[in-house]
Amino acid sequence: MRRVDLSAASGRAWDVVIVGSSFAAFFFARQLRGRDLDVLFVERGPFIDRETQLATRHEETPPEVAQENSSGQRKDWAVRYQFGGCSNCWWGNTPRFHPSDFNLRSRYGVAQDWPLSYDALEPYMADAEDIMEVAGEDVVDGLTRSRPYPYPPHTLTRAERRLRAHDPSWGPMPSARATGGSRAHCCASGTCSLCPIDSKFTILNGLESFDDERFALLTDAECREVQTAAGQASGITVRTPTGTSAEIRGDFIALAANPISNAAILLRSGIGGEGVGLGVHEQVGQFIWIDIPFDNYYGGTSITGLGYALYDGPFRSDAASVLIESWNAPPSLRLERGKWLQRLKLKFVAEDLPLTENRVVLRDNDPVIVWTGHSAYAYRGLERARDSLDGLLPFAHDTPRFGKFEPTEAHLIGGTPMAASAEQGVVDTQCRVFGLSNLACLGASSFPTGAAANPTLTIAALSLYAGDQL
Ligand SMILES: Cc1cc2nc3c(=O)[nH]c(=O)nc-3n(C[C@H](O)[C@H](O)[C@H](O)COP(=O)(O)OP(=O)(O)OC[C@H]3O[C@@H](n4cnc5c(N)ncnc54)[C@H](O)[C@@H]3O)c2cc1C
Repeated sequence: MRRVDLSAASGRAWDVVIVGSSFAAFFFARQLRGRDLDVLFVERGPFIDRETQLATRHEETPPEVAQENSSGQRKDWAVRYQFGGCSNCWWGNTPRFHPSDFNLRSRYGVAQDWPLSYDALEPYMADAEDIMEVAGEDVVDGLTRSRPYPYPPHTLTRAERRLRAHDPSWGPMPSARATGGSRAHCCASGTCSLCPIDSKFTILNGLESFDDERFALLTDAECREVQTAAGQASGITVRTPTGTSAEIRGDFIALAANPISNAAILLRSGIGGEGVGLGVHEQVGQFIWIDIPFDNYYGGTSITGLGYALYDGPFRSDAASVLIESWNAPPSLRLERGKWLQRLKLKFVAEDLPLTENRVVLRDNDPVIVWTGHSAYAYRGLERARDSLDGLLPFAHDTPRFGKFEPTEAHLIGGTPMAASAEQGVVDTQCRVFGLSNLACLGASSFPTGAAANPTLTIAALSLYAGDQL
């Protein structure tokens, strides 16, 4: 992929202009390779190579997201503005969404159904797992797979092996931290946000799987608006850090920025209808530390295990689904002689609902999240999980200690939701904005609902699917 400057990017028309350069962008572009298309990626941030990332890791301060938070609780939002976006700092957990996550309304009378099913996305989930060289093993009842994971799962911790023997809904966390393939085997250092040995999949280390000689990259150019003419998107306007503005023309525009930016671009452009920006949300997490009478840990990666016991069932008509993560590294140690490793560190992660009062709005033409708090549904899910915990543990243990609700799970969702009609959402099943068939919104902004499972495998699958439709 060649780099271009602003005058080269704006001096001609492109077949496809993709805003962003992370999962949503590159998995979409992967389906365009070899199709004689001139594709331009427009990235707001700089290109930072791995050596520079390692050298400057202690100086990094993530961007702050403007918000009006009336929830009464601290709330953070995780974004990265650089080539590869959050793929540079994600942890690499890749559980799939469960089939029920796609039809909460028809199964449980809650929120909205996706107009796409698990079965429609499943082949693309399998492709995304292959591309990211995911290590995993299917452990979930009701979750069909068309093919096995490409690489074997990481070794479970000692406690997870006992949990699994008691209840097979415990198993290894699917992970883009490698056990085989082109990247180094995970070293389980627990410093996954910038992997010291480049074991986790990133857009940077996976670039070869996405490249084409007709692809070009413009960095340091923030997309501000989409332009339209004769009922079609005709291009975008961009602004550089020094304040220079330019227009870039394209036959097809794909916004793959992130839920805040995708919504802000549509709002500035007056595109997408009244639903744009509404329902931004993310999961709520809560750590649990449990002292146990045997040594734990010795697992193969940072987050080794997951439990589905609280994930799905009729309870979801009233309380959120909860995924249980089990953490191996860095270990949480006990400060008692001979008992250092006698601890189990879990995390409950509850799905949240897209509440219309939680939304992206523009203030002085820049995005602000109006945040009133997570849904009562999410908190009921966590309460149910805390009440159920004793019954899930088949060994003696001390009273669990629950942490505060985490200020972020770093899994932004919503703002340009997919729906069956323009009355119900912003984009159609191909992620195209209703009424503008050559404008797509990619990534979790288009998820009608989230899930307790981490979103990125589904983001990647949805982009592969949308790219196939082009
Ligand atoms: C610390 C951390 C850990 C995480 N761990 C996991 C995990 O284990 N599993 C999981 O599933 N998910 C995880 N996530 C979430 C995951 O990183 C995101 O779901 C994923 O990166 C979303 O991909 P994306 O392409 O939609 O957006 P992003 O990765 O957010 O990328 C958006 C890109 O668009 C660019 N951009 C934004 N606005 C504009 C604009 N106006 N013009 C041009 N470019 C723009 C950005 O600079 C960026 O490059 C984690 C996130 C963080 C921060």
